[in-house]
Amino acid sequence: MTAPKKASTSPDTRPAPVISVIGTGYLGATHAAAMAEMGFDTIGVDVDPAKLAALSAGEVPFYEPGLPELITKHVATGKLRFTDSMADAVAAADVHFICVGTPQKAGSHAANLAYVESATRGVAEHLTHPGLIVGKSTVPVGTAERLRGIVREFTPSGIDAELIWNPEFLREGKAVADTLHPDRLVWGGASAAADAVIREVYAAPIAEGTPVVSTDLATAELVKVSANAFLATKISFINAISEMCAITGADVTTLADALGHDERIGRKFLNAGLGFGGGCLPKDIRALMHRAGELGAGRVVGLMQQVDEINMGQRERVIDMSIESLGGSVLNRRIAVIGAAFKPLTDDVRDSPALNVAAALHLRGAQVSLWDPEANDTARRSFPTLTYATSMTDAVEGADLVLVLTEWDEVVGADPAALGALVGRRSVIDARNCLPVANWVEAGWSVRSLGRPTPVTGAPVSVAAGAADALATAR
Ligand code: NAD
Repeated sequence: MTAPKKASTSPDTRPAPVISVIGTGYLGATHAAAMAEMGFDTIGVDVDPAKLAALSAGEVPFYEPGLPELITKHVATGKLRFTDSMADAVAAADVHFICVGTPQKAGSHAANLAYVESATRGVAEHLTHPGLIVGKSTVPVGTAERLRGIVREFTPSGIDAELIWNPEFLREGKAVADTLHPDRLVWGGASAAADAVIREVYAAPIAEGTPVVSTDLATAELVKVSANAFLATKISFINAISEMCAITGADVTTLADALGHDERIGRKFLNAGLGFGGGCLPKDIRALMHRAGELGAGRVVGLMQQVDEINMGQRERVIDMSIESLGGSVLNRRIAVIGAAFKPLTDDVRDSPALNVAAALHLRGAQVSLWDPEANDTARRSFPTLTYATSMTDAVEGADLVLVLTEWDEVVGADPAALGALVGRRSVIDARNCLPVANWVEAGWSVRSLGRPTPVTGAPVSVAAGAADALATAR
């Protein structure tokens, strides 16, 4: 590409590029706010009018710590605005970030690329001056090369446009810090001119010493999916080992601590439990499986298949433990579920293991009372038939069984004696291996975990027929 229209030849005098961000969901809203914080005039574009109205009013339609403050700040400074007009945004901007969704295709493991194709085409056909199109969405390898064809086809003649890929590694719950201070920056396919522009955009994190990997398109695309595949594999690995711990009486948490001291392994993503979920890992490993199959990379297919199966199996394990714990049936039993989000510090329930287990128990006839500090509303939209409690104490009132399915601080730090006074039966399944078990046992609770030995049980307030045996023998 040539330099943006507004640029003069002198890097010292040329104005900073204006940024457009196409798609203002979890990724795009955060990226747009971060671009404004880094000093760029930024315009967010979306097709969802409700989302745009909320963001324009400084409200974030999802829970992400620190993001509302950043958006409010820069809507007020005028550095950040939102529009539904792709034409206006593209005409005003020089660098266009594609941040739309790439969900799993219905009826397939493949990624649905309709949104990235439509967004790329939208940018290309509205270009009025040279532009750099920067893909951030997570896409299967080979996608960006194909999108370059769309850019060539739809960019008005005489206008210079280039597309590069710059995958995003932010974590929900820590998205603001991750975007402002990323642990690495990766982009692929950049010409010398594009490389200079993207380095200017990321000048602040680069100045902080953030490593830059500038590579080819295919490598950039694959870095992102490989990172998610590796994290998913780590979780499924420890969950597979937790099954052996459960059989032998070994303690998977101590085991993970010991493994983690080896710096080649590390302790992160080695928490055995209910497994991974959310809007990224599950669909990304399935998209990788699908793409690997298309490319004939059979070993990747087999590995990811195992990772996915182990992960989904953890949900079955918790459902089975719940049934056992209640003496063989959950029908009409009161089950308090703490947690609906796929992890703490988010209200995201996309492919959430917690919500999946809650819904499965509800469908087996249990009276499920669910509480999540942030995700009650998003969960209700997906599963309106569950009962949503207004607080943790409200959820556990009279419960025959408590399930801890998301490791929110609120439940990790809860007073087991106070909760024990409210339940019908002091029985808890710690599906995230996050509770201070000794405290709970001391308060009279029977605690069961995934791969940690069952401690000496407390005395449940009341125990349904058959449940005592199950409690004593099952793990
Ligand atoms: P999301 O569903 O929250 O947001 C996508 C947004 O794009 C929606 O607001 C939608 O209305 C909008 N959109 C769709 N088509 C559009 C179009 N043609 N023009 C303008 N807007 C359009 O999804 P997300 O979680 O933000 O994920 C987006 C991408 O980022 C995905 O590829 C995802 O894998 C990747 N990603 C997400 C995260 C994360 O933590 N959520 C992290 C890294 C990468």
